[in-house]
Amino acid sequence: MRLSQYLLSTLKEDPADAEIPSHRLMLRAGLIRRVAAGIYTWLPIGLRVVRRIEAILREELDRAGAQEILMPAVQPAELWEESDRWDAYGHLLLRFEDRQGRRFCFGPTHEEVVTDLIRSELKSYRQLPLNVYQIQTKFRDEIRPRFGVMRAREFVMKDAYSFHLDAACLDETYQAMHACYTRVLERIGLEFRPVLADTGEIGGAESHEFHVLADAGEDRIAISDSGAYAANVELATTLPGPEVEPSGAERKKVATPNAHTIDDVAALLKVPVTTTVKTLLVAGHDGPVALVLRGDHELNEIKAAGLPDVESPLQFIPAASIDGVAGCGPGSIGPVGLNVTVIVDHAAAAMPEFVCGANEDGFHLTGVNWARDTPIDGKRVRTADLRNVVEGDPSPDGQGKLTIRRGIEVGHIFKLGSKYSEAMNARVQDQDGNSAPLIMGCYGFGVTRLVGAVIEQCHDERGIIWPDAIAPFQLVIVPLNHLRSERVREVAEKLYRDCREAGIEVLIDDRDERPGVKFADLELIGIPHRIVVGDRALEADEVEYRGRQDAEARRVPLAEVAGFLKQVLAP
Ligand code: ATP
Ligand code: MG
Repeated sequence: MRLSQYLLSTLKEDPADAEIPSHRLMLRAGLIRRVAAGIYTWLPIGLRVVRRIEAILREELDRAGAQEILMPAVQPAELWEESDRWDAYGHLLLRFEDRQGRRFCFGPTHEEVVTDLIRSELKSYRQLPLNVYQIQTKFRDEIRPRFGVMRAREFVMKDAYSFHLDAACLDETYQAMHACYTRVLERIGLEFRPVLADTGEIGGAESHEFHVLADAGEDRIAISDSGAYAANVELATTLPGPEVEPSGAERKKVATPNAHTIDDVAALLKVPVTTTVKTLLVAGHDGPVALVLRGDHELNEIKAAGLPDVESPLQFIPAASIDGVAGCGPGSIGPVGLNVTVIVDHAAAAMPEFVCGANEDGFHLTGVNWARDTPIDGKRVRTADLRNVVEGDPSPDGQGKLTIRRGIEVGHIFKLGSKYSEAMNARVQDQDGNSAPLIMGCYGFGVTRLVGAVIEQCHDERGIIWPDAIAPFQLVIVPLNHLRSERVREVAEKLYRDCREAGIEVLIDDRDERPGVKFADLELIGIPHRIVVGDRALEADEVEYRGRQDAEARRVPLAEVAGFLKQVLAP
């Protein structure tokens, strides 16, 4: 490809609205252009990267025994009503009507369409397991599209769905897809982790997310020292603390005027936040439930909503109604004397004494202990795992401690079980003639999100550093002063032709630009290998080679260039 005729437009300045490196670099290097919030055009150089990722996915999915299909982006409401998700999917679902008033949505995912397909096409259990996939444009009306293609509204997903007679068979395909995603990310050369994940709204039993580790990641993941345990913080479990003896301190009521937050209280009383507890009131099935956490700990809303007494999704008691329950405002609630179900996080339960709200505005209690003041009886007052794990917590597998890293979720695999097949009556007769709902798995991979995730890991202050496996071009040839030097032109053009014939994805920078401008652009767009053809090196019948991450260029004799390139260009 000739850069002089290529639709490449790089930007010198950082775009104002781009917050993270990958978004900035994708705009600056001219990979994408914004059309509307969360909606982008892919320019040629960006699309080449997408296509290379898709090619790797196809190879690995075919190897895992999956078959490619293509389902429609537009899906009829009736299918979503069968699965009961037409309303449940909420505002993420873009719904619309055709000219006859028939209702449709733009697919955010394809469980319904694929279940409908398989229930009518599957002839016999002998065809099972079946694993079908597609690479498709999805639309989710994300409340806060951001970071460019990382959290877009329109994006490309590879989604696969598998069908089985029993759970053991599903487990095999699940493991094969786990291995498939691992291979894809290893081939690209990324630092990533498969982690235990919440199944969320899609439902189902077991689930793993694949996270590319990067500071810009929206998710926090907990990884044990040994690496054997890794889970999204949404899900990572904490262990019950040790039994502790109450401290024996005297309980006192102290005035804490104008202290509205737990930090205010700790500062005012000159005690560490770790010696305080905070009490939150949420809606339960039989009236309000109090959740008690150590002052510095964060409530994990997924865990809380999963408690048998608590309403799901989690609803906090509105500030105006708290007085009616606790006799005070939100800043002064405490477990002592509170006449509701109290659920105490393991870490709070393991405190020998603590500071808490006095259920009276402007007052707190100090020297409180559970045994004397609010006995944990396993009935009205109980313990549970309520909080997000933090750095240094013991690993739930009993091996070492947890480290918290940030990750970008690029893949998500689920064991769905029979949730959709039961709702949509997708059944098959087994070998004994008994009809049973199909057992399903589903496997999503964010193709366009991965482009951003790769850049988060692979860039420097000059621009993108594409891994060879997905670079838009492998090699760029830069002729210097080519408009005036015939020798440069001839050598560069011949090299360009030879490379194309050798099947190398090569770009020639034949623009009429100063060398500095060319080099800056080429480093920004991140082509991994570069050959400079200039008069000076040509005097010695040599050209200059430099890898995108090399500190210096090196000379290569013209006669040896072909062999040299074979060596440095990864297959
Ligand atoms: P998230 O938690 O990031 O919102 P999700 O769990 O809703 O994602 P899934 O339903 O698991 O997403 O979708 C499968 C994959 O599709 C995700 O792992 C991610 O890589 C990709 N994906 C999901 N939402 C988006 C989006 N808004 N923009 C780009 N890619 C996305
Ligand atoms: Mg997910």
